[in-house]
Amino acid sequence: MLRTVHKTLEKALAGSGRRGLARYSLPFALLFVSLLAQYGISLMVPKGVDFPYVLLYLIAIFVAAWYGGYGPGTIACLLTMVGLPALADHTFRLTKVDPSRLLPLIGVALWVSKVSSSQRGKREVLLRARDELNQSVRRKREDLAQAVADLESEVDRRTLSEEKLKTQLGRLHLLDQITCAIGQRQDLRSIFQVVIRTLEDNLLVDFACICTYNPEAETLAVTCVGMRSEALAMDLALGENAEVPVDRNGMARCIRGELVYEPDLGQLDFPFPKRLAVGGLGSAVAAPLRTESHIFGVLLVARRQTENFTSGDCEFLRQLSEHVALAAHQTQMYEALQQAYDDLRRSQQTVMEQERLRVLGQMASGIAHDINNALSPVALYTESLLERETNLSPRTRAYLETTQRAIEDVAHTVGRMREFYRRGDTQPDLTPVDLNTLARQVIELTRARWHDIPMQRGIVIQTRAVLASGLPPVAGIESEIREALTNLIFNAADAMPQGGTLTVRTTSADGRVHILVEDTGVGMDEETRRRCLEPFFTTKGERGTGLGLAMVYGVAQRQNAELEVKSVVGSGTTFSLSFQTGVALAFASPPAAVQKPHSRLQILIVDDDPLIIRSLRAILEDDGHAVTTATGGQEGIDMVRAAAEREEQFAAVITDLGMPYVDGRRVATAVKTASKNTPVIMLTGWGQRLVAENDVPPHVDRVLNKPPKLQQLRAALAELLPEPVERAV
Ligand code: ADP
Ligand code: MG
Repeated sequence: MLRTVHKTLEKALAGSGRRGLARYSLPFALLFVSLLAQYGISLMVPKGVDFPYVLLYLIAIFVAAWYGGYGPGTIACLLTMVGLPALADHTFRLTKVDPSRLLPLIGVALWVSKVSSSQRGKREVLLRARDELNQSVRRKREDLAQAVADLESEVDRRTLSEEKLKTQLGRLHLLDQITCAIGQRQDLRSIFQVVIRTLEDNLLVDFACICTYNPEAETLAVTCVGMRSEALAMDLALGENAEVPVDRNGMARCIRGELVYEPDLGQLDFPFPKRLAVGGLGSAVAAPLRTESHIFGVLLVARRQTENFTSGDCEFLRQLSEHVALAAHQTQMYEALQQAYDDLRRSQQTVMEQERLRVLGQMASGIAHDINNALSPVALYTESLLERETNLSPRTRAYLETTQRAIEDVAHTVGRMREFYRRGDTQPDLTPVDLNTLARQVIELTRARWHDIPMQRGIVIQTRAVLASGLPPVAGIESEIREALTNLIFNAADAMPQGGTLTVRTTSADGRVHILVEDTGVGMDEETRRRCLEPFFTTKGERGTGLGLAMVYGVAQRQNAELEVKSVVGSGTTFSLSFQTGVALAFASPPAAVQKPHSRLQILIVDDDPLIIRSLRAILEDDGHAVTTATGGQEGIDMVRAAAEREEQFAAVITDLGMPYVDGRRVATAVKTASKNTPVIMLTGWGQRLVAENDVPPHVDRVLNKPPKLQQLRAALAELLPEPVERAV
């Protein structure tokens, strides 16, 4: 209770009120309470008991001094010592007041006030300190709360950026995965497929496709659609190869190189986004595929929900499209490189083949020369015997005729073998040839081979001519082309032992005219195709000579035509000859008429082959000529010079071309130097080539082929010596 009273008093007298009315009313109130207490106690205390009422007043004085301070304390003292006696006693005089009691009482009251005020001062300091402490604690708590809030927001921010990082890492991983996958592929289509499939699986898009851009038509062609997008693509009419015009919408921006994001397809008023929206798609991204400076396509992805692509998605698609474009560019470069490499290998192979053919040709030519030399005496004797020996038995004559035919056949074969090789620096006489006419002719000429003969075994070869109308004439040698085509048709017929179709086709393109012989026969394997043009290469054993295609090759070479062979084992073969058109053409001169033999001429024969000398001498002497022979170039020259010194000359000199030390050319020069009117006839195994190549040596009047024919020899002499020469050596 005392505590309650104390608190009430403290509260009532707190603050500025301490000096005010409450403080100064306190002594009066307390003394009043003391009076009341005295009265109350006096009623309760029995009579005669002396109660120390003065204690009540002392308590009132000390309470007034404690709570009220100096003033109220002093007032309480004065009231107790002066006021109350004055009120109770009319006779009271101030003089009656005992200062020895009053002053110590006032002194004690003042002391109590001082103690109280010092106590109070200390308490106030304490209170202030407590308030300050409270304030600082509050501030600290607020700071802490702020720090916690900051920390929480930082944690949120970090969590968010961590998630972002994780997403980015995921995208990077995906990008890496796609880049690796496309890096292992070399064709555009499979690159596109791998990209679309990965997008469908990992980016969870509802529709994905790649379109290629056609700048001329201003359209996009759908090149690759994802497997999961296929059904939707069908609904949208965006299946593979579908064409989409590039309208003024986002597609046009994409073609200009921008990445286009349409968050709400339904809101757009252009045909293409509308088409996507009708198919149930909400948002779409189109990323351009750019190589160097041009856009070659668009990567399109879409989802059903609107606003469903984040900026991270867009950035990822942009990077992906760059990678895809780069890979596509590299693929194109790789393909171009591969193409160049293949071309190079093909031309290298062609060069090698031509070189081999050239070497073989030279060899064939050398062999032909030797065979011609060896055949010469046989040919001459046979011809001479058949012509002069009138009393031959029919059997002998028949044998000789067979021998002569055989020699002619051999000479013919050797001729073809030799013709295989010609140097390309000379231009043979080319005439305009109509390949269509020639094709029809050759088909007719070879009918026996492709129709009649196979028919005997019940085999049918269908032959058709597919001829281009308005075909320009080509520059060529008709007989040679005819022979070449004949060979090609024979081969085609051989290649179809069970029958098939033989097509002779003519076409014209790029300023050239092509004639093709196609069959549906057995075809050739790579080795055969590579070697088929070589002379003597045959797969037909005894039946084949291996000279047919070599001859065709020679024909092509001489007429600047290109020969091409395409063959697939089991499917057939196509030979194509392509000729140039529009060449200035000249006709060959007609052959000279055969003349009768001269009477008696002095003829010098120069040859290192004794058999040829002997046979030539024999037949010329049979013709009535006087023959002198020399077995070498130098000996021949000596004889001519010796005759010239005697002021004589030979009517004609027949010399071989190739001889050791001094060859036919030097003999001819010496003859013309010694006697310029003496004609020189050169006999050679290379004859045809010399004429064709305009390589006839100077001072040679005529070149004759070995084996020589009596008729040709006579004709040459008649031509070169129109007037009989009677002078003898
Ligand atoms: P031959 O006909 O005497 O064998 P060729 O020079 O004409 O000689 O042909 C050489 C080879 O080329 C033939 O043996 C054959 O293997 C092949 N060949 C030529 N033409 C054809 C063809 N149309 N189909 C298949 N193989 C062919
Ligand atoms: Mg053949």
